[in-house]
Amino acid sequence: MLPHDRLEWVEGWGRSLGAAGYVYRPSTVEGVRQVLALARELGVPVVPRGAGRSYGDAAFHPESVVLDLSRMDRILTWDPGAGVVDVEPGVSFSRLWRFALGDGWWPPVVTGTMTPTLGGGLAMNVHGKNNWHAGTLGEHCLELDLLMPSGELLRVDRENDPELFHGVIGGFGQLGIVVRARFVLKRVASGLVHVEAVSAPDLEEMLRRADEAKEPWEYVVGWIDAFARGRRLGRGLLHFARHLEEGEDPAPAQTLRAETQDLPDTLMGVFPKSVLWRFLKPFTNRPGMRAINALKYRLGSTVGEDARYLQTLAEFSFLLDYVPGWERIYLPGGLIQLQSFVPVDGAERVFAAQLEMCRTAGLPSYLAVLKRHRPDPFLLTHGLDGFSLALDFPVTSGNRERLWKLVREMAEPVVEAGGRFYPAKDAALPGELFRATFRNGELERFAALKERWDPDGLLRSALAERLL
Ligand SMILES: Cc1cc2nc3c(=O)[nH]c(=O)nc-3n(C[C@H](O)[C@H](O)[C@H](O)COP(=O)(O)OP(=O)(O)OC[C@H]3O[C@@H](n4cnc5c(N)ncnc54)[C@H](O)[C@@H]3O)c2cc1C
Repeated sequence: MLPHDRLEWVEGWGRSLGAAGYVYRPSTVEGVRQVLALARELGVPVVPRGAGRSYGDAAFHPESVVLDLSRMDRILTWDPGAGVVDVEPGVSFSRLWRFALGDGWWPPVVTGTMTPTLGGGLAMNVHGKNNWHAGTLGEHCLELDLLMPSGELLRVDRENDPELFHGVIGGFGQLGIVVRARFVLKRVASGLVHVEAVSAPDLEEMLRRADEAKEPWEYVVGWIDAFARGRRLGRGLLHFARHLEEGEDPAPAQTLRAETQDLPDTLMGVFPKSVLWRFLKPFTNRPGMRAINALKYRLGSTVGEDARYLQTLAEFSFLLDYVPGWERIYLPGGLIQLQSFVPVDGAERVFAAQLEMCRTAGLPSYLAVLKRHRPDPFLLTHGLDGFSLALDFPVTSGNRERLWKLVREMAEPVVEAGGRFYPAKDAALPGELFRATFRNGELERFAALKERWDPDGLLRSALAERLL
């Protein structure tokens, strides 16, 4: 029997799905081993959890042990000459960049929020706005310590066990627990980036400009007004950025201080950001969001073609942290996202079809984000030579069923085009469509790893049960 006082309601970040679980928060590797041993003895599944920033059901499983690793947040070793760092799995992106920046290093891959842990980031093999250039987080990982379901501790890298290394990274916590990871960070000469903002009147132009920008710029991200239709379908704004070169920043010692990076606590110096989401809530409906999207496009496009400016790394990278707790505007139903990855050739056709499907269903996406990607060597990767479109939807008691149906409809052309989906953002994808995207025996190889390292299926998540 697991103790009742461990029972908590555990949710995905989108807060549309959750389950009760017995939460353990060990602070050492030995503590993790004990939790695994207890679960094994009682025959209860274990779901690893980092900061709980996956949108859907990746980090919970009903009536199971939730192994929350967020207290294992120590930086273990640091070589400021080589930028090589050893971290426990609960170290967040936020902690890492604050720590390393003063020595002139920045995480080579960061997500749109700085709150995820590196353990969770590896389990999902996260990507940033520089995916085309830098690849996924796993590509910058040199070595892992994994605590396997048997209690065995393994040191794994891409040479000594390439199959396990490439399976664990992006294997959504189904093979072993990351208890230490070594990364090599990116050298930066300044805490600032050059940014250019451009607008595009339709989807074709958005994709063309994003593609052209991928060489001269290191970071490329697009926002799409998903309410626009007809010849304006897919219109939006693109932001490109690149790091400053040595000598470009007149005061690098200042800009490389973590304190100068911090996002402001207030908006326009007046409104405390912690309460901002409450002001946004009244606009969280179709007319409100249509107006906000149109206004954003108009303001962005009237700045002109040459909106060029400098931003701190944190300001540019973590746009989604500007309004803390913004996901609460979607309560009580929460939100879901579908992030589809489509090869270059099919991207315009598939994304246009998806935007049309949303319109026909009367379920427009409130936030739509475009990125450019490249393939990577991980077994269950979402990476490919193409684009991704991430579509956010509010969930209500009235639209839930239609929304899940819409996700299925939007996923079908992605499969046909040879695309992929991103489990970190997923909540509603039917398993058969996820599985249909793996055509070269990847799922069978993953199943063989699972059989080898976790034959009793101790590690389980609701997402893995749905998709694998
Ligand atoms: C606002 C927002 C913006 C985002 N932007 C991006 C983005 O730009 N790019 C991107 O790629 N993702 C993005 N994400 C998704 C997010 O980065 C991933 O979901 C990431 O995995 C979350 O990390 P976490 O620590 O919260 O892990 P959780 O969500 O808690 O867990 C994620 C998975 O990792 C497993 N896991 C956690 N820790 C371990 C461990 N130590 N060992 C083994 N398995 C483990 C869990 O079982 C689960 O399957 C964003 C999320 C949010 C909320």
